[in-house]
Amino acid sequence: MNASRAVVLGYPVRHSRSPIVHGHWLKTYGLEGSYEHAEVAPENFPDFVRGFEADGIVGGNVTIPHKEAAFALVDEADEEAAALGAVNTLWLDHGKLHGANTDGLGFLANLDVGAPGWAKDRGVAVVLGAGGAALSVVRALAGRGFDKVVVVNRTSSRAEKAARLAGSAGLAIGYDEVWRWLPSANVVVNATALGMTGKDPLDLHIGELAQEAVVNDLVYVPLVTNLIASARANGNHAVDGLGMLLHQAVPGFERWFGVRPEVTEELRSLVIADIEGRSGSAPTSA
Ligand code: NAP
Repeated sequence: MNASRAVVLGYPVRHSRSPIVHGHWLKTYGLEGSYEHAEVAPENFPDFVRGFEADGIVGGNVTIPHKEAAFALVDEADEEAAALGAVNTLWLDHGKLHGANTDGLGFLANLDVGAPGWAKDRGVAVVLGAGGAALSVVRALAGRGFDKVVVVNRTSSRAEKAARLAGSAGLAIGYDEVWRWLPSANVVVNATALGMTGKDPLDLHIGELAQEAVVNDLVYVPLVTNLIASARANGNHAVDGLGMLLHQAVPGFERWFGVRPEVTEELRSLVIADIEGRSGSAPTSA
C-alpha cells in the first residue's frame, strides 16, 4: 500500500505552518506519509480536489480563500461545517469526500488547556471581528453556554450574521458600544486581523476589564500581540492564538494517518522557532 499523502490547500499557501505540524507528528509516530503545501488558484480548486484519489491524496486542510468552495464540493459535511458553510478539513472515505470544520474545536481546546476553568461561570463573551474565524468562535462560545455573546465588528451586516449563530444569546454591536460590555465580560476574543504583523494594532481599553476576565487573541504572528501584552500587564490571564492552530489540526491527522496526535510543548516550540525565524510571514488558519 502507498504511504498516505495529505496537503494544505490555499492561495497563497507557502506561509502555512501546517506542514511543520503534520511533519512533526509523522516523525513522532514513525508513520510513512507526507504532508505538503498545495498552492491552487481558485479556478483550479474544484478539479484539484476531484483529482485527490487519482493523485494518491487522502485529504487535506483548506485555508483562505477556499473554505466555502470546499464546502460546496463535499459529499458529506459535519455539523460544524454545515452550520458555517465552510470546510477546513477534507478526507476521502470509500470514494466519498468528507468535510469538517475544526476551527471551533481548536479554539475551545486552546482555552481549555491555556486557561482551565475559563468558561465555568459562562456569563458574557465579547468577540471582536465577524470574519470566518469569528463565526467558528461565536458558535463555540454559544455551545459552551455563554449567556451573552457580543459580536463587535466594523461592518455591521457581518456582525449581525455572526451574532445570529449564537441564537438568542447573540448581540451585534459596533466599536462605539464596546465600552458598555467590557466591564462585565468574562472572556474577550480578538478574531480580527488587527495586531497581525504588518497590520494596525487592536486599540482596546483593556483597563475596563475585570481581573478575572480571560483574554484570547487568535492572531499568533506575532505570538505576543499588543492585546496579549496589555492584558497581561493589566493582570488578566491571556492566551495566544497558536494553540488553536495546533489543536484544529488534530482531527485531520487522525483521519489521514490513523493516529490521534498530541499537541505538546515540543511541537509548540518548533512552530514558535519558525515564527521567530520568519518574522513577517502572514499567519493562516491552517
Ligand atoms: P477575515 O474573514 O478576513 O475577517 C477579518 C476580520 O477582521 C473582519 O471582522 C474584519 O472586519 C476585521 N478587520 C480587518 N481589518 C480591520 C480594521 N482595520 N478595523 C477593524 N476591523 C478589521 O479573516 P479570518 O479568517 O476570520 O481571520 C481573522 C484573524 O484570525 C486573522 O488574524 C487570522 O490570522 C486569525 N486566525 C487564527 C486562527 C488560529 O488557528 N489561531 C484560525 C483562523 C484565523 P470587517 O468585517 O468590517 O471587514
